[in-house]
Amino acid sequence: MSGKIRKTSGRGRLFDSVLDTIGDTPVIRINNLAPDNVTIYVKAEAFNPGASVKDRLAVNIIEAAEREGKLKPGQTVVEATSGNTGIGLAMVCAAKGYPLVITMADSFSVERRRLMRMLGAKVVLTPRAQKGLGMYNKAVELAEKHGWFLAHQFETPANADIHEATTAREIIGDFDGEKLDYFVSGYGTGGTVSGVGRVLRKERPETKIILTEPANAALVGSGTAQQRGPDGAPAASHPAFEPHPIQGWTPDFIPLVLQEALDKKYYDELIPIPGPEGIAWAKKLAQKEGILTGISGGSTFAVSMKIAEKAAPGSVILCMLPDTGERYLSTPLFEGIPEDMDDEEREIMKSTPGYHME
Ligand code: PMP
Repeated sequence: MSGKIRKTSGRGRLFDSVLDTIGDTPVIRINNLAPDNVTIYVKAEAFNPGASVKDRLAVNIIEAAEREGKLKPGQTVVEATSGNTGIGLAMVCAAKGYPLVITMADSFSVERRRLMRMLGAKVVLTPRAQKGLGMYNKAVELAEKHGWFLAHQFETPANADIHEATTAREIIGDFDGEKLDYFVSGYGTGGTVSGVGRVLRKERPETKIILTEPANAALVGSGTAQQRGPDGAPAASHPAFEPHPIQGWTPDFIPLVLQEALDKKYYDELIPIPGPEGIAWAKKLAQKEGILTGISGGSTFAVSMKIAEKAAPGSVILCMLPDTGERYLSTPLFEGIPEDMDDEEREIMKSTPGYHME
């Protein structure tokens, strides 16, 4: 209980652009779900302006291309994305005046498509049967045919570089003088774990990095190498892939950006997690901590809880939460969350005489 009213005093600056508000997301302690004697913190990427970790990569892909002269003023940008990169790119392209075309399998949540269109992007759907590789190949086709700039989130050095320059620096700064025993992350492109891994290995070598992936799409765990083309892009769907509910994680290939973390051993343990467990923990984070996160955040937290159960007393764990739960209203995350009143709510309604619904 706090005896005084909370006060705030502004951020101490005026912002020139929404893009300057990307990053510096808060690390928040878990107070009700963590076991005794272990501290879990979450890094809440929903605090980014586009509400996900991918805002970081989006702004750097565009600004790296501007710096290198690969993107001309007014040139169209094209990318294949399961959603958050598309929303981030749509925000960046809107702010900077580039047209954007997104290719996306029709299996991803409809709120993602509508958000991108709201931000002014064009969204071209591809058949879900052709998986991640289908939407990727469509983006390549479009870029070649029309001379558009392909963002290449799965291969570009701009991806892990921005996590090295921002996400990792924030973690180092926020944990200055504090214990940090475990860092837990899944992967989509692998940008987060490769970029953070570079820095933690050098500056916090005692921190164990825990990598996770869907139990039914354990590509890294399978030990089977990814077939690649000359530019590092996937040449075939990975044989261990199966469709899974953890949107934003594990496409049907091992991305080149993630390959760095695998080759340089930026993880100490690989713990697979079934999607339904991630969904259950995302609900608990919402209902017991007041923290809204998506299925990947719930899944990363599920793994953090497994680590917490076996960790030495006094251990400190940092769990990445890549986006917000609001992005999942039409998905299994919100199944069982009804629109209409349940029995308990009807009882509350009937407990006073006025304003009854039928
Ligand atoms: N969770 C969600 C919801 C995402 O959209 C992504 C990015 N695709 C990730 C996790 C993984 O991040 P990264 O691409 O940096 O591995």
